[in-house]
Amino acid sequence: MKRILIFGSGFLGLNAAKVLGNKKDIEVTMIDRNNYHLFQPLLYQVATAGLSPAEIAFPIRSIFSKYRNIKVLQGEVHSINLQDKYVEYELGRFEYDYLIIGCGAITISICKRKQSFLVIKFKL
Ligand SMILES: Cc1cc2nc3c(=O)[nH]c(=O)nc-3n(C[C@H](O)[C@H](O)[C@H](O)COP(=O)(O)OP(=O)(O)OC[C@H]3O[C@@H](n4cnc5c(N)ncnc54)[C@H](O)[C@@H]3O)c2cc1C
Repeated sequence: MKRILIFGSGFLGLNAAKVLGNKKDIEVTMIDRNNYHLFQPLLYQVATAGLSPAEIAFPIRSIFSKYRNIKVLQGEVHSINLQDKYVEYELGRFEYDYLIIGCGAITISICKRKQSFLVIKFKL
């Protein structure tokens, strides 16, 4: 049984999981800091009161309830050890055979204002 870890439940993570869902000899685990998938392209609709937040955020566990081989963990990922194949997240360590990284991107502004962005530590 191969253990596949999907880090992030954005567009990349969801699509990867759907491809791997219900496949034989594969155990898929998805980790995200949130328990929902956020449909970012419609964020502006929420900002302008055209939609409610619940209309663009979908519970990840519900999306994958029909897939027997997918489990979902909620937690912040702090580091990835590529050599020994595990990630450390807020509830501990998770070992994998294959890792799919779908944790999104950061925007770095050219302004000189103080920036705040995610730093993931990779151990190569
Ligand atoms: C306002 C807006 C409008 C957009 N409109 C369009 C559009 O019209 N068309 C289009 O093609 N694209 C659009 N995009 C871009 C599109 O939404 C992104 O390209 C896409 O969401 C990227 O998908 P992803 O899976 O790479 O990452 P994301 O969707 O960003 O998902 C990353 C996931 O990783 C999780 N994560 C990140 N870090 C951690 C961590 N340390 N621990 C645990 N979990 C973590 C996050 O919670 C998130 O669920 C838009 C984006 C925005 C913000």
